[in-house]
Amino acid sequence: MPLIRPLWAALLDLAAERDCGGCGRPQPSGEPLCEDCDALLAEGGPWRTLAAVPGTPRTHAVARYEDPIRTMLIGYKERGRTDLRRALGRALARAVAQTLDATGGEADFAVGSTVSAPVALVPMPSRREVVRERGADTTARLARTAARALREVGAPVRAVPALCHARAVRDQAGLSREERQANLSGALRARRAAAAAGVAASRVVLVDDISTSGASLAEAARALRTAGVPVLGAATIAAARVRS
Ligand SMILES: [Zn+2]
Repeated sequence: MPLIRPLWAALLDLAAERDCGGCGRPQPSGEPLCEDCDALLAEGGPWRTLAAVPGTPRTHAVARYEDPIRTMLIGYKERGRTDLRRALGRALARAVAQTLDATGGEADFAVGSTVSAPVALVPMPSRREVVRERGADTTARLARTAARALREVGAPVRAVPALCHARAVRDQAGLSREERQANLSGALRARRAAAAAGVAASRVVLVDDISTSGASLAEAARALRTAGVPVLGAATIAAARVRS
């Protein structure tokens, strides 16, 4: 019954959309997240993350990488819960604001305030096969949503996909810290067009959904530095290890 199955799957997806994208409780309101899960993103943190890898830029996150945050991120990236993008993007914006506050001094994202120096959010590039599988570059989309949220409060922030892979890399999951570093060493490079488009004139904040060892953020900072673009810091929604 080849025609039945996709329809059946679509109905299941529809049902899943009515559950909270974090804890899975039914959501009669139809909102993507229940109040408790939404509060984790909207009020959690900010935390400075603990990096295991030298060269990791100063990074802030708003949540620990544990459930229900883990379920939200997997739902958004791998299970088609695109309805979570707005809440996740806003959480990323909060982490970015914290990184700017901690490093920029004058950056104050109170409503109505403005910041003179432009800020470029550079998303961690996704592997090509992952983008193909998911049908979208989920990290780049989060960066755009976060930039929009920051512009709404008067900050001149835009998302600039300034990095790409210089060679193929393996999936980081399941690799040891040493293997991750070897897997990523020299793996990224700055896109020439992006550098020319004025990223160098902006304050650059790297963004990703999760930080674990810091290895990918460190490699991204190295790649941009090599292209003459200094990195101010990094921001992620969740972090495996935070300073408490
Ligand atoms: Zn929930």
